Amino acid sequence: MAQDDAGNQCPGDIVIVPAWDGTFEADPHAPFTIVLSQRPFEDGTPAPTADNVAICAPVSPVRLPAAVREARASYGGESPDAGPGRLPAGVLNSYAEGSIAVAHSLAITPREVFVSGSSGPRYDLLARALIARTRKAERCWRAISETLSRPDAAPSRINEGRLRGRLERLLTKAPAAAAAEARARVSMIADGSSPLHLDSEPAALAEDVAHLRCLCERRADAEQLEWMRSYMEQARPRDGSQLEEDYPYTIEQLSFVALLDQPHRIDSMRATFEAYRARYVKEYLARHTGHWDEAKTIHAALKQAGPTARALSKLNTLARLGEPVAVDELRASGELLLQPSACSQQDVESALALSPTCPACRLALADVSLAAQAAEVIEGLEHGLAEQQTRLASEAVRRILAQGGARLERFLQIVRAADLTGLALVLDDQLLAFLDELLAEPISTAAE
Ligand SMILES: [Zn+2]
Repeated sequence: MAQDDAGNQCPGDIVIVPAWDGTFEADPHAPFTIVLSQRPFEDGTPAPTADNVAICAPVSPVRLPAAVREARASYGGESPDAGPGRLPAGVLNSYAEGSIAVAHSLAITPREVFVSGSSGPRYDLLARALIARTRKAERCWRAISETLSRPDAAPSRINEGRLRGRLERLLTKAPAAAAAEARARVSMIADGSSPLHLDSEPAALAEDVAHLRCLCERRADAEQLEWMRSYMEQARPRDGSQLEEDYPYTIEQLSFVALLDQPHRIDSMRATFEAYRARYVKEYLARHTGHWDEAKTIHAALKQAGPTARALSKLNTLARLGEPVAVDELRASGELLLQPSACSQQDVESALALSPTCPACRLALADVSLAAQAAEVIEGLEHGLAEQQTRLASEAVRRILAQGGARLERFLQIVRAADLTGLALVLDDQLLAFLDELLAEPISTAAE
């Protein structure tokens, strides 16, 4: 007996088979069936297709004790001890190292189920996970059934085969070019997939089915609603925006299920959408202006950091100075400089009536600010140059002081460049070559 999330008792089956070959048929109405295979999975063994079944296989062949094999009754059914409780340690380890095959991914590992301890394997964890999925599949089917029947009441019993047939007929009737995504999801279910395969919530599946029905029954309204929904899809507010509260409310209103139930609501949907859009456009325009003002500033700042970047690139070529530094920042500054610094769109506001983003720059409201990134890049370049400068000072000074003479003259050039801007400006190829040569020299103390 396992408990579902609501605390209800759910009897299921634990079945032992010599090997899993994909032919075992579990009771489709059991809340869960756990199959213990005594042999490992072989390559190409099919996974179970039913949502309520999990197959546990050991890493190497095991032979379950006779007492365990006979206790294949309903797990927990009458007495809490029924079912293959304790397993010999070697068997337990083999299952823990083995695998669990299910129709769809399950967030539970063999190690979590086959733990050593006095209470035996944790079939309850596995059972609960299977029950949760079976329940979700049921909710999906019920949502599909209800949406197909609206405004009439849906049959109380779910017949998956009949529902698949009804979905198939709906797909044939609905205009082929429309609603590609909803059509693809509904097709998968009509063709035999479990709704769990789609990773959709029941409400989303209901929307898909209602979408196709609306296209069949009230095409103009359906297309209008489609357009509003696709606009909303790209008109997401950014974090902290005042639109954040309005967004989910507006999306909820723009529902195909609601249109199916109350066709006259298309006008109030349009009004809700337009109210959101007006506020969105206002925020977008402010963001658009702000973004491009910022881009101009960033461009100027990066240009100003140009000599620093060039000097750093040069010093990075001196292998004797050590590993190159601030390589990522150098690349990023080059990339940022390639970004446009202005938008060419003349009348952004009018353009937003048709599409939620500026057609020229495609700036999204939720885009991250480039200013912070640029500031970090410039700071990284300055740090990099400072580090190379420090390395130069310690390495070059040691060598030049050791030699004295005319080269001291050249060194003064470097010393004069003690500030980063100075160094960045005096560092030409000639000086670089000199530094390279200098760093190649062994340190001699002959001149002392
Ligand atoms: Zn633009």
